[in-house]
Amino acid sequence: MVRVLLLFGGLCLAGLMTLTVFFRFSDGSDVFSYFNELPEVDTTFQRGFRSDTLLKINQLRKPHSVETVKVDEDIQQFVYNYVNGHPKPSEIDLEDVFDTLQNKFPGAQYLAANLVTGSSREELVEVLNQWDAVGNPDFNSITTGVFVTGRKLGALGVMARRIPKFSLEAANTVGGRFFNQCPHCRHVHALALDKKSRTLILTCPDCEKPFDVLAADTSGYIRRATEFMSGFSLPETDLYREAQSGEEKVLSLWQQVADRCKYELDQNANDAREAWKLPEETWDQKAGDCEDTAILLADALISKGFPARVAIGWNGNIGQHAWCVVKIGSGQYVLESTLQGTLDHKALVSIVDAAPFYQPEQLFDRENLYFSAGAPQNSGEDYFADSVWSPLAIKRPALAVRKEESDKSTELE
Ligand SMILES: [Zn+2]
Repeated sequence: MVRVLLLFGGLCLAGLMTLTVFFRFSDGSDVFSYFNELPEVDTTFQRGFRSDTLLKINQLRKPHSVETVKVDEDIQQFVYNYVNGHPKPSEIDLEDVFDTLQNKFPGAQYLAANLVTGSSREELVEVLNQWDAVGNPDFNSITTGVFVTGRKLGALGVMARRIPKFSLEAANTVGGRFFNQCPHCRHVHALALDKKSRTLILTCPDCEKPFDVLAADTSGYIRRATEFMSGFSLPETDLYREAQSGEEKVLSLWQQVADRCKYELDQNANDAREAWKLPEETWDQKAGDCEDTAILLADALISKGFPARVAIGWNGNIGQHAWCVVKIGSGQYVLESTLQGTLDHKALVSIVDAAPFYQPEQLFDRENLYFSAGAPQNSGEDYFADSVWSPLAIKRPALAVRKEESDKSTELE
C-alpha cells in the first residue's frame, strides 16, 4: 500500500491506513448478532451484495461529480478466489492482498483494501460504504468478497484503478498515468506523464535511480534521447581527408559544426518549454542550443567511427548543460559543442581537466542510455567504462515520421 499510494498523495494514504486499521480491529461483538439468522453466502448472494455496494457507492460519488465505479471482473474473480481459498478470511492480511494482487495485475497501481464485519447484509453494505476510499477519485472499481465468520458476516472490499503499461506511444497519444517496471530494481511503480512535457528524466521511486531520458522534438513528439541520434553524417571536407591523426579528424568534424551552427536558444521563443532537434534539423537550420549541437556532433563522430556520447549534467559556469564526449585511442575528451571560432588542439580538453567543471548525470549514444554505476562524484573521470556507466539498451523503434519532420523543418528555413 505504501509504495502504491505514496506516489500520489501522502494525505490520502494516511487517511486510508487509519481507516483500514480501524475497521480491521473494530470487530466488536454485538449482542443482537447472536439472534440473527445468517444468510447463505452463495454465488447469487455474492453478486447481489456486490451490486448493492456498487449502487450505494455511485450514489455517493455522482453528486460530487466523481467518476462512477464499476466492477473489474478480473479483480472480482481474484477476490472471490482469495477469500474462498483463505483458511480464516476474518484474519486476511491486507498487505498480502496487495502483493498478491499486484503480482497478478501489475497495472493495479491504485489500491485500497478493507476488511469489515457486520451482523447483517445491510450492515455490511453500510460499513463498507463508510470507508474513505469509496469517495476517492483515484479508484474506479470496487470488488467485494463476502464470507461467514462465527455468527457474523465479513467482507473483503478492494477498490482499484488499473493503469496501462508505459510506452512512448501511449505517452504521446493520451499522456496520464502508467505503470512501469524499473530496469534497475525490477519493482513495478506508477508514473504520471504530461504529454506536454519536454525534457524528462524519469526516476524510479523505489531505488531512486534514473531509468529513462525523454525529450520533446520540435513537433512536440516525446522521444527517447537515443532516438535523436538519427545516424547523421557530415559532408566530407578536405580538412578531414588531410587530417593525420584521430585528434585532427575529430577537430575537423567539430570545426564543421562550429562553422555552420551558431549557438541559439530554442527558436520557439513564445514556448518556454525546451525542444530537442534532430541532427539534420540543427544542420539545416544552422543553429541550435547545447543539446542540439552535442547530439549533432556525437552522431557525426559515430558515423566516422569514433566512440562518442552526449552527456547531460551540470556545468559549474552554466548550470544544467549538455556536451559531447569522444574517445580517441585511449584518450577521452570533452567537446564543448557551443564553442564558436577556430578550434585547435587547445580546445580539445581531456575529461580529467574538464572534470571540475563538467559533472555528467546521464549519457546516451545511438543504442544506450547510461546511468552512473558507482559514486556519482567519480562519473566525470571516465565516460566510457561500464564500471562507471551502466548501459541500458532500449530498442530503437523505426520512426517513419522522422524524414517527414525533417523535410518540414527544412521548408521553414
Ligand atoms: Zn528501481
